[in-house]
Amino acid sequence: GQCIQWCPSGAISERDDIDKVLKAISDPNITVVVQTAPATRIGLGEEFGMPVGTNVQGKQVAALRKLGFDVIFDTNFTADLTIMEEGTELVKRVKGELKMPIPQLTSCCPGWVKFVEYFYPDLIPNLSTAKSPQQMEGTLMKTYYAETNNVDPKKIFSVAIMPCTAKKFECQRPEMVSARKDLNDSNVSPDVDVVLTTKELARMIKRAGIDFTSLPDDQYDQLMGSGTGAGAIFGTTGGVMEAAVRSAYYLITGQQPPSALWALTPVRGMQGVKEAAVNIPGVGDIKVAVISGLANARMVMDQIRAGNTSWAFIEVMACPGGCEYGGGQPRASSPPSDADRNRRAASLYTIDAKAKLRNSHDNPQIKQVYADFLTSPMSEKAEELLHTHYISRAEEFVPKKTEENKLY
Ligand code: SF4
Repeated sequence: GQCIQWCPSGAISERDDIDKVLKAISDPNITVVVQTAPATRIGLGEEFGMPVGTNVQGKQVAALRKLGFDVIFDTNFTADLTIMEEGTELVKRVKGELKMPIPQLTSCCPGWVKFVEYFYPDLIPNLSTAKSPQQMEGTLMKTYYAETNNVDPKKIFSVAIMPCTAKKFECQRPEMVSARKDLNDSNVSPDVDVVLTTKELARMIKRAGIDFTSLPDDQYDQLMGSGTGAGAIFGTTGGVMEAAVRSAYYLITGQQPPSALWALTPVRGMQGVKEAAVNIPGVGDIKVAVISGLANARMVMDQIRAGNTSWAFIEVMACPGGCEYGGGQPRASSPPSDADRNRRAASLYTIDAKAKLRNSHDNPQIKQVYADFLTSPMSEKAEELLHTHYISRAEEFVPKKTEENKLY
């Protein structure tokens, strides 16, 4: 809750959040549905002595099942869905079909979104209206999953395992209750009830006495439990951009992207600002940028404000290197070395390279959710459930500054 902003260690909220989840698990009338972010699977193993970057996806699912979670979904699924919504929005902006400016800015990192709301509220229209994968998954748990399985959404408790402490703030944003609005029932709780960090999950596993390293691999539950290689790389800087470019190519041309787009190397690596130009038949070169770290973001935002850019799409992650070393991730060394960052990134790129499906638009569960529930990207229903809005927080910031000025 409230303490997250003021308690730097997160200790108070941590205890409360784990307790809330344990309470829901112990209630036989509640279906506890959990999702795991792309970066959690390449961080969790280190808490159990495994080498940096080890992919423990199967063991993570097995541990969640042993802890008593009823349904285990993968945020990689909604990473793919985010690409469908955000990619469609980008194409519409570039073609001038939406009266919204370019460059379009990604909106999946709540630390970054809040930064824009505080310091660049005039550029809020540049932020994609697509919700983050966490919030899309939460919304769909209480609508699509509930409807498909005939479960009362009021009896669903939705948990997200995230690499990130800012995600705890995001799930409490007052607008993140679209399931409640959609179902016209004010008693449905927020779309994501509780966010636990990867470190908190490790603590739960240790407290339960689970021998993590010897767990056999388990599989996600289906409906919303499959992601493509494109969804997997969301966990590192540049990943959202690569995933978006693959599907933007398809959305614009109707053709599958060439395999050269399966490794868009200029946007890989740990530099804070990266650029690439992608040629898409019919529209020519689309220029994109990838930023990680808020100091770098500030430089780029000042250029956009000055009207000085030719980029169509910019990915921004608040944490240097992206979510793989978010504030909720285990870390052997602090701050982590670039070698460690690259090890975790390499693990995600391996998941992508080995995946049978590497484009978000090829995910059969994505095709199914549109056919059975959402109709099409940016349909009325998709807009209502999967898109959001932002507010200027410039005013909030000023009084705090005044307080500070009074103090010093
Ligand atoms: Fe959270 Fe950092 Fe990832 Fe942003 S980049 S979503 S703050 S872990």
